[in-house]
Amino acid sequence: MKTFFIKVFGCQMNEYDSLKVKAILESLGLKEVKNVNEADLILVDTCTVREKPENKALSFLGQCKKLKKERGAILGIFGCVPQRLRRKIFEEMPYVDIVIGTFNYHLLPLYLEKVKEGKRVFEVWNKYSLEENKLAFYPSPPKGPISYITIQIGCNRFCTYCIVPFVRGRERSKPFSLIIKEIDKTLEKYPYIKEIQLLGQNIDFYKCPETGYELKDVLKKVSEHVFNKGIKRIRFVTSHPAGFSKDLVDTLKDLKDIVMPYIHLPPQSGSNKILKLMRRGYTKEEYLEKINYLKEILPNVAISGDFIVGFPEETKKDFEETLELVKKVKYDQGFVFAYNPRPFTYAATFLKDNVPKDEKIKRLQTLNSFLMRSALEKNKTFLEKNTEVLITKKEKKGEKYLYEGRNPQNKIVIFESEKNLDFDTVNVKIKEAYPYYLKGVLNV
Ligand code: SF4
Repeated sequence: MKTFFIKVFGCQMNEYDSLKVKAILESLGLKEVKNVNEADLILVDTCTVREKPENKALSFLGQCKKLKKERGAILGIFGCVPQRLRRKIFEEMPYVDIVIGTFNYHLLPLYLEKVKEGKRVFEVWNKYSLEENKLAFYPSPPKGPISYITIQIGCNRFCTYCIVPFVRGRERSKPFSLIIKEIDKTLEKYPYIKEIQLLGQNIDFYKCPETGYELKDVLKKVSEHVFNKGIKRIRFVTSHPAGFSKDLVDTLKDLKDIVMPYIHLPPQSGSNKILKLMRRGYTKEEYLEKINYLKEILPNVAISGDFIVGFPEETKKDFEETLELVKKVKYDQGFVFAYNPRPFTYAATFLKDNVPKDEKIKRLQTLNSFLMRSALEKNKTFLEKNTEVLITKKEKKGEKYLYEGRNPQNKIVIFESEKNLDFDTVNVKIKEAYPYYLKGVLNV
């Protein structure tokens, strides 16, 4: 076995898991290939939060069956879908060699040994073990100049629609000493990294099991630690409105030169009735109070959010309250999902999925167009202004290069230049604004 290919069907947490798996496989001397047809080992990384990516992942695995026949490729699946389906995949897809859950993919080298001995592997654990902290010792490859470091996993909140606590387990925070070790190892291996993104399912609830540090302490200490190592940008996701505190906002102000002004704070709904049914733990008024404080302290902050439409019992009036919220907050970006019941959850078991599908789609489209208008309005405020862009991608286009990067507010910025730049931070003057990106010229 010399080569591997990983296909991700899921969220940012999955992307991070895949980078870790990639690091583990590379430590075994395997080489990643971009073409699935050339891989000796094909792994599918899965998310079960929504039905669609789950189905896509299983269907992709089915398509890979022929590669096993033709060239003896080893097939494996890991992540939330095996965690939910347990033995089902192992029994119904006999051509799949490795089925592992979310709590034990750090043992992949051991499982590959078993496969080499001709065994099939089914290892889905019921809960996590502290052993998973060993993942910190595998520096994940960055994406361009951005490194992702998970500091908190799992969730204790049990929102009534969400499967995460069932498949990712209870909330646990990585010890601060390990966060620093992981950052150091990663920067040592990939010295061109310019930005660190700290990840957590509900990152505001981070609490170091050794020191008691909270997220604000981590941000301060990581900032101090990396500032002289070439890191000029730090971000963190995902925040939860119930845990997002004024103290944290005050810390963001103190760290405004290094922690970027972008917050993902998902409200899910603007109706107090629906928020209660979702068991989100805050009201619309409390959410808005936090947003207003954030905007007051950091006037240049960009805010994004997630929304669910068509939740059980959501009336037109409830939905209109969500639209009102969107108008008040003026989001920079929003992600809308139509409610779809997930196994194990309270909503799937006890609430009637009583908003018709057509109505859900209508609400999804309406909210999307509201959010697009809002994003465009926000993006237009950048017109004719300079913004600092960290280059994340480049492509040769005739005599020129086409660059893509992110500004402090996490906006995608595109520009062309004859200059051959690397993952540099440059000044771009914005000339065109669209809902999803900005276009500008390099300011020299
Ligand atoms: S806070 Fe709610 S939506 Fe977020 S992961 Fe936990 S249960 Fe799921």
